Amino acid sequence: MRRLSSEDATVDTISRGPTVVVPPSLMNNPSSAHEIAAAMEMARLELEDFTSPESTPGTPPVTNVTDKYAFAFDIDGVLIRGGRPIPEAVEAMKVLNGQNSYGIKIPYIFLTNGGGKSEQERCIQLSKQMEIEVSPGQFICGHTPMREMAEKYNTVLVVGGEGEKCRHVAEGYGFKDVITPGDIIKTDPETTPFRKLTEEELKNSKVRDFKNLAIEAIFVFADSRDWAGDQQIILDLLMSKGGVLGTRSETFDEGPPVFFSHSDVVWSAGHELTRLGMGALRASLEAMFKAVTGKELETTAFGKPQIGTFHFATRLLKQWRRATHGIDAPPETVYFVGDTPESDIRGTNEFDKHSENTWYSILVRTGVYQEGTTPKYTPKATVNTVLDAVLHGMQLEQKKALRETLDITKKLEGTAIAESAPNSRAPSPTRK
Ligand SMILES: [Mg+2]
Repeated sequence: MRRLSSEDATVDTISRGPTVVVPPSLMNNPSSAHEIAAAMEMARLELEDFTSPESTPGTPPVTNVTDKYAFAFDIDGVLIRGGRPIPEAVEAMKVLNGQNSYGIKIPYIFLTNGGGKSEQERCIQLSKQMEIEVSPGQFICGHTPMREMAEKYNTVLVVGGEGEKCRHVAEGYGFKDVITPGDIIKTDPETTPFRKLTEEELKNSKVRDFKNLAIEAIFVFADSRDWAGDQQIILDLLMSKGGVLGTRSETFDEGPPVFFSHSDVVWSAGHELTRLGMGALRASLEAMFKAVTGKELETTAFGKPQIGTFHFATRLLKQWRRATHGIDAPPETVYFVGDTPESDIRGTNEFDKHSENTWYSILVRTGVYQEGTTPKYTPKATVNTVLDAVLHGMQLEQKKALRETLDITKKLEGTAIAESAPNSRAPSPTRK
């Protein structure tokens, strides 16, 4: 497994093979976080390598990483706030990586809606922010499921993010012809009367023959940096005939579909109060479409709380358990720690109803959720910080293990009693 310093790692270099991203200070001395980061990276590569047949579980190596349960973390408002780590988050990672009284390690992954960045970028960023070894395989972004859409649509409009970043993420996902709002404004500056492209944007944007080009789908990958301009362009397309700019449908139902990488209305940034997010743009766009056309607009969102993200996470953890413990099932319980009831808690609770394992939602008070309010979706537990969340999950597991031991003991005693006195009935083991 390659180890690359977070200082030098780029999306390009870490995409070339299995990689763990390492803070420079740990380069010569792998930390306790290496094992889980490396194993999750291998599992992810195997999961996404559609060509190779499923390997049969071999003899797993000896490890003190538990396979019974795992943690999944939201990032913004849970581990990071305003670009800096939440102090307890650093501690929580140490606990997961073995600094605990049980002497075990617990596997973990990251599920984030924070878009506009590829899994690789998020990985390098978190390694730097938290000073921790992590691998891109541990990251599932809101737009990860969009990868599969690249097969379906050829020419697409990609909206949001800084500069050319989202164009690159989309191309990295396999989209063949990616158009940005910048391309459209450069081709016809009258498109957005109040927005002028910067010199940088002019340089990167491409003039295209939009009169003879159908845009087949619209993807909002990350937060828009210019709502007015971007919404104008999206509306133009939604009202067009078959995604050709400059045309107008009479029925307003001939435009391309629009996809959002998530639907969080607010998020926890550096400001003390929450800030508007992509879900707000979505709501605004739907309202505007209605106001202009009188029709309802149907949009699709990925990310939490949508099931797809959780399903992908379960498959990853299943692959990981198979490779590391030789068991063909996901860990029995996944503790999901998030700060947004509408996406994190809602998604976890809903997925728990369908999934083959248990998804247990834990709400923290370090982000969007504010103490004293009633969360719209009820978590299984509410705690102050991510460290409390980790300790809570571990305690539950410890109790569970203890109860199982007691059950076995009772069963054995019961058998013994039943054998010595054939007429007496063995007490049946009781569970919570
Ligand atoms: Mg969050």
